[in-house]
Amino acid sequence: GRRHVVVVGGGYGGATAARYIRLWSEGAIDVTLVEPNAAFVSCPLSNLVLGGSKSMADITLGYGALAAQGVRIVRDRAERIDAARQSVLLAGGQSLRYDRLVLSPGVDFLWDQLPGMQEEGAQERVLHAWKAGAQTAALRAQLQAMPDGGVFALTIPPAPYRCPPGPYERACQVAHYFSVAKPKSKVLILDANEDVVSKGALFKKIWATRFAGIIEYRPSFHAVDVDAASGTAISELGDKVSADVLNVIPPQRAGSIAIDAGVGKRWCEVDFLTFESTQVKNVHVLGDAIQAAPLMPKSAHMANQHAKVCAGAVVDLLSGRAPNPAPMLTNTCYSFVNDREVIHVASVHAYDAARKTLLVVPGSGGVSAGASELEGTYAMNWARNIWDDTLG
Ligand code: FAD
Repeated sequence: GRRHVVVVGGGYGGATAARYIRLWSEGAIDVTLVEPNAAFVSCPLSNLVLGGSKSMADITLGYGALAAQGVRIVRDRAERIDAARQSVLLAGGQSLRYDRLVLSPGVDFLWDQLPGMQEEGAQERVLHAWKAGAQTAALRAQLQAMPDGGVFALTIPPAPYRCPPGPYERACQVAHYFSVAKPKSKVLILDANEDVVSKGALFKKIWATRFAGIIEYRPSFHAVDVDAASGTAISELGDKVSADVLNVIPPQRAGSIAIDAGVGKRWCEVDFLTFESTQVKNVHVLGDAIQAAPLMPKSAHMANQHAKVCAGAVVDLLSGRAPNPAPMLTNTCYSFVNDREVIHVASVHAYDAARKTLLVVPGSGGVSAGASELEGTYAMNWARNIWDDTLG
């Protein structure tokens, strides 16, 4: 009979995998994509909504083109996976049989590591905006409502977390907005890490020059609790910092459907030739949810690359062929430091057969010399390109 692949999660990893399995099997494999959200909202560029230069409409895309290319889209949430029966139970009651299952559920938050955030109303008051959507718009509204002279504080969890440079880009975007609209206001970065996790020298130079007196960076502030009512972050050492707008990026793990399926405890180990789980057969895991290879960021670009390696391997395996023994992956992360200028970090990752992992090719990639408008153009074109590649 016909082979059936079920993909859980229509984000950067899942939508790309669904599209390429359909494309590379020339329609011979049936592909069902399970995603609860009606539309795709991009995390990349979502910090620009906070900065005021993009709108929610600019980062929201539909699933129509993917459906037109033959991917069956089921708007529902995967509730449980029965690996022995090779089936997925959906919240709506439907059950889907699969030959191969692809999970790209992104991240979920470890709220138990911030007890105050579990209190009634806390998560409505103190936002993460670390999954683009309603929270992005709500955090923008909080910034707009904040009086001039106020403080925006942002907590960053210990690495690894989704999008290593993302919090620092966010700080720049909010500072850019303040410099235009609320010049007496301040941005305070409370970083659990000892130093800026990504593009450190570039970000610190920008903070010290164009955002001098606006952005303050405080390393090794590991937020372990929050008092949401007063907008206070509390560090491991007992330091308390209050802000007019407190934005907490919580510590993260793989999306709960992957944990529940038994493919991982915090992150999911995979075979990097196929992205098949090392724990459960016929189940592949992509994107932020995986236990990453050395120096591999949790990024949309990387999720897209995982998805293509996985799609090729799934089509090969279901056709009785051996998958590519030597995949190559690339990554570029652009960060907007204001409404036009951008810095980047890039890398190339090659499969190492002896160590069975992906390793950065020595001398590949690197970072920008400094922020530029030319890179701003590249960053916008990167976004358009990956949206087309993901959603068709
Ligand atoms: P996601 O894209 O989050 O997709 C997961 C999907 O799974 C979601 O649609 C969710 O609804 C769905 N899902 C979850 N559970 C279930 C379930 N049980 N059943 C059905 N569906 C489910 N990366 C870059 O490369 N460049 C950038 O410039 C960049 N900027 C960023 C800025 C911000 C502010 C943030 C937060 C992230 C940024 N990233 C960037 C990182 C990027 O967004 C993620 O790495 C990427 O989205 C990971 O893709 P994914 O498929 O793993 O998860």
